[in-house]
Amino acid sequence: MNPVSALKCRSYEEDIVEGAIRKAVGLLGGMERFVRPGERVLLKPNMLAAKAPDKAVTTHPEVVRAVVRLVRDAGGIPSIGDSGAIGSFRKIAEVTGIADVASEEGAALLELSEAEEVEGSGTFRHFEISREALHADAVINLPKAKTHGQMLLTLAVKNLFGCIPGRRKVQWHLNAGVDIGAFAAMLVELHGLIKPRLSVVDAVVSMDGNGPGSGRPRETGFIMAGEDAFAVDYMLCRFLGVEPFMLPTLKAAREKGLFPEAPEIGLLGDFHAPEDAGIRDFKLPPGTHLEWTIPETARRLLKDALTTRPRVDEVKCRLCMLCAQMCPAKAMKGLDAGIKINYRRCIRCFCCQEICPYGAIDIAQGWLLKYLS
Ligand code: SF4
Ligand code: SF4
Repeated sequence: MNPVSALKCRSYEEDIVEGAIRKAVGLLGGMERFVRPGERVLLKPNMLAAKAPDKAVTTHPEVVRAVVRLVRDAGGIPSIGDSGAIGSFRKIAEVTGIADVASEEGAALLELSEAEEVEGSGTFRHFEISREALHADAVINLPKAKTHGQMLLTLAVKNLFGCIPGRRKVQWHLNAGVDIGAFAAMLVELHGLIKPRLSVVDAVVSMDGNGPGSGRPRETGFIMAGEDAFAVDYMLCRFLGVEPFMLPTLKAAREKGLFPEAPEIGLLGDFHAPEDAGIRDFKLPPGTHLEWTIPETARRLLKDALTTRPRVDEVKCRLCMLCAQMCPAKAMKGLDAGIKINYRRCIRCFCCQEICPYGAIDIAQGWLLKYLS
C-alpha cells in the first residue's frame, strides 16, 4: 500500500502550517525516513513568478519554512531552489516571501541556473537539468496545487519542471508543441531523473479556474505529503474532484507502466476518504476538461474551433512585454494597440498567462468547444 497523508490546515499561520506538516510527514515515518544526518537537501517550491503569496501562484513561504525546520531537525542541510523562466530570481524570491524565510531560517537560496546534460531514460535522448538538483543528496518537492491551461493541473510531477534551468524550459515547450502527451511524457521522465524523496503539497489555498497565473485563490484547506509523486497527484485529483487520469502526467505514467490503473493508496491523516475534504466545485480552466476527451486528429483538424487559447484583456494589459519575452513560439508581438497573438504559431503552453504580472491573460475557448461545454 502506497501511503499518502493529508492534514487539515486552514491558515498560513506559522504554527498551524508547521503543525500540519509535522503530522503529515510524521504519518509517513518522520523526516528521518527521508533525510539522513549531514545530507544536503534541496527544497524545490514553485517559485515561477514574482507574485505575492496571497495570489496562490507560488508555494507559500510558511510551507517552505516548516519543511526547512523539519529537514534541519533530521540533521539535514536544507537549501531552497528553483528556476523561473524569465526575470530576476532574487526579485521572485523577495516578492514570494521565500527570500525572507531563507534568511530567517539560515537556508541557502539557490537559483537553479547551471545545467548538466543527462541521458534520458526512455523516449527522450537527453535532458539538461540543474546541477544543484542533480547533485543534491536529496530533493524534496514542494508544489502548489493549481490549475493549468495546458496540463489541467500543476501538482507534484509538473513542479519538477523548474529543475530545468531558465530558458531551456522554452525548448521543451517548443519540442512538444501542441502535443500535450509528449510534454507530459517528458515531465514523467524528468521526474524519474530527479527522483524526489518526498513531496509536500501546499493546498491550503490552491488556485482554480484560469490557472496557472490568473486563476482564483481558492481555500482548499489541507496539506498533503507522500513519497510517490504519482500517488500524491492521484490523491490530489481525487480531493479536488478531478478524474485522476485526465491529468496528462498520470496518463503518461500509466502508459509507461510506472503507475497502475487502479492504484492502492493508503490515505492517512484527517480524511477517511477524498470526498471528506468537501471540495465540490473546484473549477478547471475553461474547456480543458472537455478538450482532452476529443481525439487528437479532430483537434488538429478543427484547431481553432476545438481548442483553448490565450486571450489578452486590453484593459488590464500594461504592455510590459514580459509575455512576449517568455513566449516559446515567438507568437506574441507588442503593437501600439496592445499585444497581438499569432494563433497559427501559438502552441498553447500558457506560459504567457503564468508570467503576466497583471492577470491580463485568460483562456478563451474555440466556438465549438464552447458550444459543447
Ligand atoms: S499581457 Fe500581461 S505580460 Fe503581456 S504585455 Fe500585457 S501586462 Fe505584460
Ligand atoms: S502565446 Fe502564450 S500560449 Fe501561445 S505559445 Fe506564446 S506563451 Fe504559449
